[in-house]
Amino acid sequence: MLKENTVLRGTPASQGIAFGRISFLKRAPSCPVKKLVDNPEAELERFEKARIHAISQLGTLYEVSLEKLGEQNAVVFQIHQMMLEDPDYVNSIRKLIKEEKVNAEYAVDTVGHRFEQQFKSMVGNDYMQGRAADVVDISRRINEILMMHSGQIKHRTIALDYGDDPVIVATDDLAPSETVQLDPHKVSGILTSGGSNRSHTVIFARTLAMPAVICLGEDKLLKKYEGHYAVIDGRTGFVFIDPDQATVHEYSERKHTDDAQRAHLELFRGKHTFTRGGHPIKLYANAGSLADIELVKAADSEGIGLFRSEYIYLQSQDFPTEEEQYDIYSKVLKEMGERKVIIRTLDIGADKTADYFMLKPENNPAMGMRAIRLCLNNPKLFKTQLRALLRASVHGNLGIMLPMISSVDEVKKSRAILDEVKQELTAGGQSYSDNIELGIMVETPAAALISDELAPLVDFFSIGTNDLTQFTLACDRQNADLNPFVNPLHHAVLRLIEMTVKNAHAAGIWVGVCGEMASEEHFVAKLVQLGVDELSVVPSSILRLRAKISTLG
Ligand code: PEP
Ligand code: MG
Repeated sequence: MLKENTVLRGTPASQGIAFGRISFLKRAPSCPVKKLVDNPEAELERFEKARIHAISQLGTLYEVSLEKLGEQNAVVFQIHQMMLEDPDYVNSIRKLIKEEKVNAEYAVDTVGHRFEQQFKSMVGNDYMQGRAADVVDISRRINEILMMHSGQIKHRTIALDYGDDPVIVATDDLAPSETVQLDPHKVSGILTSGGSNRSHTVIFARTLAMPAVICLGEDKLLKKYEGHYAVIDGRTGFVFIDPDQATVHEYSERKHTDDAQRAHLELFRGKHTFTRGGHPIKLYANAGSLADIELVKAADSEGIGLFRSEYIYLQSQDFPTEEEQYDIYSKVLKEMGERKVIIRTLDIGADKTADYFMLKPENNPAMGMRAIRLCLNNPKLFKTQLRALLRASVHGNLGIMLPMISSVDEVKKSRAILDEVKQELTAGGQSYSDNIELGIMVETPAAALISDELAPLVDFFSIGTNDLTQFTLACDRQNADLNPFVNPLHHAVLRLIEMTVKNAHAAGIWVGVCGEMASEEHFVAKLVQLGVDELSVVPSSILRLRAKISTLG
């Protein structure tokens, strides 16, 4: 007998509170036995049939998900179809069947796990780590089809039914296709011992508004909890198994308020952002990788106001090439379609460093050789990024933003390098958009104080309140002990913001805020009152802020 109120804590993955009985997902045996076969040709044929069948199933799944989850989410099943055509994956399976004369199930399982491990080992690359679940999913699909064809099993995955009680599905990691197939009338929440916050599963759970807690650990999410009543809180990551009356009562009340709030926010999906008086505000999202784009779109963002390109450099073992960068920027722009995408040029240095840059140790790296300073000192590095950005610009609606500007000279020099790159591209017959906005981050007090001189040189300003606050108040943003001294509403910071907005508008350019302050509901009223035109925020706060702004005068 379990004691009452066992509390586990995992990673909160999809908000909301769920009640229900824990039901472990039952799958067809995931570890097929290795069998030697006399006729590998016949096994190759079985594999081929199952592969074609899987591709067709995924087509159906795509159609179903299109209705349930929208294009941006359904697309994963097209990606799965492409993975099933991937020569690396398919040929590795064929090779194993042919050379080792093994059964198709074993070959699919072995190759699937090999690819899974490869993706998982790409530490620091969240996007590729998130793909591990996809390769497991497609391999499992083929194997289930193989087993269904040979009559070994009748169904795909199932969760136990507990009569009228809702079910909380528990498993090691839920595959994207398993998540979409969960019946939201029956399944109230998801618990996984593993998983990744960037996986499609989590994105789907969020889109389906299904609370989820992941990464609980295999030693915590135990099979003995099967059938036990539980409460999960997808905002904090707490899971209560066999909760006492007081916990049930507290969470029932919270769920009530939570559900009402979320239903209210959904009314703002697909809308533009306006104040109560009808003044428009552009509500964009901050992003740092290709993987974020799905979150940005699922969050209903109107664009990307800050794409921190340095993350590409941080995830790389060496300077990313022009082609590597072009590939990422083009994909981001294509994904976002007509929506604005503002990519910030390399802001490396201070807390963001990679060994291969071989930056000299400094006493004050936050005020050191970083961001635009480093780029202007290394024109080759800067030009590689600008070439990639310009070439990618034909695929969407690009804006380029320069970080850590503190003088007119830096803007003029950067513009001159940009013009040089444009000329080189033209000479080489390569095209780029003639409609790219160039803006700067206003994140040093110097930039704010000379914003009247800077505004005529650019198309927009984006105020980086994280650094602006740190430098204005002389409070290191990395030092948690200083938190009590950091007040983003300090008059010194607000006056600099006000000055920047006035000077931007006097020069006829737009001005946004992309520091964390813009994501906080209680600061947004002040920023809107100061006249900012755009806010770039964490994706999860988009709907909440759109609702908040609609109440502002
Ligand atoms: C800022 O400084 O406010 C900002 C958005 O840039 P980062 O946080 O990347 O320094
Ligand atoms: Mg900054």
